[in-house]
Amino acid sequence: MCTDFTTDFIALSAFKVGSFEQVENEDWVIHLDPVSSATPCPVCQLPSTNHARPGRRRLWHRHVPGWRNVFVTVPTWRQRCDACLLTFTVDWPGIPVRGQVTDSFRRMCVARCHGRDIASVSREIGVKYSTLERWYYQEAEKLVPNAKEYHAPSAVCLDEFALQKGHKYGINLMDADTGHVWQVTPGRSGKQVQEALNAWPFTKPPKVVVTDLAPGMADTVKQVWPKSTVVADKFHVLQLFGKSLEARRKLHSASDNHKRGRHEQRLLHKEPDALKEEEQQELKEWLDKDPALKELHGSLQSLRAVYRNTTPEAGRAAFESWLQTYQWSTSNPVKRIAKTLLQWRDAIESYFLYRYTNAKIEGTHNKIKVLKRRAYGYRNLHRFALRIRLECKAA
Ligand SMILES: [Zn+2]
Repeated sequence: MCTDFTTDFIALSAFKVGSFEQVENEDWVIHLDPVSSATPCPVCQLPSTNHARPGRRRLWHRHVPGWRNVFVTVPTWRQRCDACLLTFTVDWPGIPVRGQVTDSFRRMCVARCHGRDIASVSREIGVKYSTLERWYYQEAEKLVPNAKEYHAPSAVCLDEFALQKGHKYGINLMDADTGHVWQVTPGRSGKQVQEALNAWPFTKPPKVVVTDLAPGMADTVKQVWPKSTVVADKFHVLQLFGKSLEARRKLHSASDNHKRGRHEQRLLHKEPDALKEEEQQELKEWLDKDPALKELHGSLQSLRAVYRNTTPEAGRAAFESWLQTYQWSTSNPVKRIAKTLLQWRDAIESYFLYRYTNAKIEGTHNKIKVLKRRAYGYRNLHRFALRIRLECKAA
């Protein structure tokens, strides 16, 4: 890197580079001078005069990985306004009133924390963990999108997550089109879901709310937002079969053989078309020996086929016919699933009209998963919420 420090490199528009020096540990110190000496009084805006020049402040300004740190020094100017007799310290843009780092250094540190844990950034840059943590969350408050500056999303995903399994839960409200998380609130009970919806930062409720199949969820949404349409998340619907398939598989499976277990899972849970020919054959022979498993597996495949319909009319008709076929099934697990789906009938059929899936927001889900895995460090939901909202920002 060249040692010719330019005003561009420093990027503090109120200053020009005066001189620079390399100190003992080879970090650079750049002495900056104000571009203009005009310092209007903050009260009356009239020109002020020199009152005192008590010295210079040194601030950490840049950290260039694998290279050096760059510090700047800026003068402290005490000014006096002759009109209103006020004495004041000149507030330079980009230089905080207190502290030992510039605004842009703080922002850089905070930006480095995105998608990473704060502890590793703290070690990398050499800023104390508690300091960096404080900066991160102060900056986060300023950086998360403000609902006032955005149009109300027309579809949202209502999602629960565990901050600490069995202890702390949270509710996400996410724009179903952009994946931006607008709101994170505590709890998961019906009352807390209501509170979450009531706290929605937009005046207009969304037209569509995509939810999982938590009992009572649709009614809760309808109570707060009577005009919104609830769509049952397709992924959660299909997942209902997963648990039952696994339970049935484990009945007869040699549980001590991990590799065999994985193979069986693959055969059972994959879409049959995605299996190799010999795997398809193996699956067929297996299912022929276990009629209950065959019924369960078959009902899942036919529900997948229902979801492949492309018009609302055809989708609804196919789903109705699925219900007719399977609600009288001789297999108890299938009957149970059909009963659940019957309760969610409207919400499942609404999918065919709006076609919201979590495919578009998969990225957001993955980020939340990663953050959740690190969530042992989050004692307070507010911080976790900020972190999610900042990392899952609208594009
Ligand atoms: Zn004044």
